[in-house]
Amino acid sequence: MGYLEGKVGLVTGAGSGIGRAAALSFCQQGAKVLVSDIDDKGGAETVELIKQAGGEAVYQNCDVSKAAQVEAMVAKAVEAFGQLDCAFNNAGLAGEFARLADSTEENFDLNYRVNLKGVFLCMKYEILQMLKQGNGAIVSTASIAGLVGSKQVSAYCAMKHGVNGLTKSAALEYATKNIRVNSVCPGMIETPLLNAQLEGHPGMREAMVAFEPVGRFGEPREIGDTVAWLCSDQASFVTGHTMTVDGGAVAA
Ligand code: NAD
Repeated sequence: MGYLEGKVGLVTGAGSGIGRAAALSFCQQGAKVLVSDIDDKGGAETVELIKQAGGEAVYQNCDVSKAAQVEAMVAKAVEAFGQLDCAFNNAGLAGEFARLADSTEENFDLNYRVNLKGVFLCMKYEILQMLKQGNGAIVSTASIAGLVGSKQVSAYCAMKHGVNGLTKSAALEYATKNIRVNSVCPGMIETPLLNAQLEGHPGMREAMVAFEPVGRFGEPREIGDTVAWLCSDQASFVTGHTMTVDGGAVAA
């Protein structure tokens, strides 16, 4: 029996990469899953993968930067499965690669809307539902760039630091309400997002692998399994934590 048996999960950005892997990890541990993304094709593929694995899932389109859509996504999870126990706020994008003075205001605003405001909105509507139920666990995707500085991605880095700030504050506010709030801080994970960053930069893959003390990129599943555990009752005393899953990168 999986450690999320009987629970209901929600994953944003679940049409690809880390989100898809986490939706599958939730399902492998016994949870029913609300799969959400702005990419309907990717979302439908994730639902299909979960069904093939013997799990239960439904898809809902949701742009996490839009409050009404986030509210509707949480409502859909409750309508489909009766409750919301585990929420993974993972949707995100990388944005431009440029030094701060060369980067655009548009890039900053886009990073803000998706990577930070999106997590705020998800937390807000998830917590409102979890308060009604009297239980819940939330994990959001920050990054090692949410813990240390990162060249060429200052806006992304600022928003990921913000995700960790939201996480710690919400964890304190709801600690006595049986709602735990944590984040994961992935290192370099082999996903379409990472591969898009490497495209057209010869030698960059090798340089980034060398940055990982374990000598390889992480697999999306390695984040998904961590998130499933953080959402489970096995992590019942873990809240306000910004957990690195990074092959040792920030320990170096
Ligand atoms: P990915 O591009 O494979 O997946 C991201 C998903 O988010 C896509 O399916 C995309 O459609 C969706 N998305 C984008 N904007 C959205 C919006 N406004 N509303 C809803 N969905 C939206 O990327 P990934 O690598 O799996 O990234 C997932 C998360 O992990 C992101 O928050 C990213 O910042 C973070 N992260 C990734 C790495 C890495 O190395 N891949 C490292 C650290 C953190």
